[in-house]
Amino acid sequence: MTVDLHDYVATVENFPEPGVNFRDISPLMGDGVAYKQAVDAIADFAKQLNVALIAGPESRGFIVGSPLAYTLGIGFVPARKGGKLPRKAVSASYTLEYGGVNELEIHEDAIKPGQRVLIVDDLLATGGTINATREIIEKLGGIVAGVAFIIELEDLHGREKIMEAGEVPFLALMEY
Ligand code: 5GP
Repeated sequence: MTVDLHDYVATVENFPEPGVNFRDISPLMGDGVAYKQAVDAIADFAKQLNVALIAGPESRGFIVGSPLAYTLGIGFVPARKGGKLPRKAVSASYTLEYGGVNELEIHEDAIKPGQRVLIVDDLLATGGTINATREIIEKLGGIVAGVAFIIELEDLHGREKIMEAGEVPFLALMEY
C-alpha cells in the first residue's frame, strides 16, 4: 500500500509566529505506513550514494535519521544543540529562520576523514541548519555525499544555499 504523504502533514497557521505556516510532520511520524514509506524512500536514495553514516540535526533530524540508519545497517551521528555533548566536539553556528543564532555540535571522533555521510532532516527551510551540519562534517574530514528531507519549503531557497556551499545530490519527498 502506498499513501500520499501530503495527507500526513498538518499545516499550522501563524506558528511559531504570525504569518508563518508551520508544516507539522507529527501525523506522518505517528502513522506506521506513512513513516515507513518516507524512511524507505530516503533509504533508496541513500543506497545510490554509498554512504557510511547518516547525520541528522537535533531534534527532528533524529526522527528521520535513526530509522534510516537502522534500515541501512549503518551508524547515526547526531548533530546536537550547543553544550549538550559530553566529550570533545566540533561546532558551527547559524542563523535561525525566525531570528536568533543557534549552535550545533558533533563529537570529534564521530566521523573519520574520508567517510561519506548523508545529512537528513524533516524539513528544509532557509538551509542554515543543514549548512551548519555540513560545515562540522567537513571540518572533521567527512564527505557530504547527499542531503535528504521529508519536506522542502521552496520559497525559502534553502536548496540554493546548500548548493552554494558545493553541489550535492538532493532529495525532498514533498515540496511546499
Ligand atoms: P532552516 O535552518 O533550514 O531554516 O530550518 C530548518 C530547521 O527548522 C529544521 O531542523 C526543521 O526541523 C525546523 N523547521 C523550520 N520550519 C519548520 C516547519 O515549518 N516545520 C517543521 N516540521 N520544522 C521546521
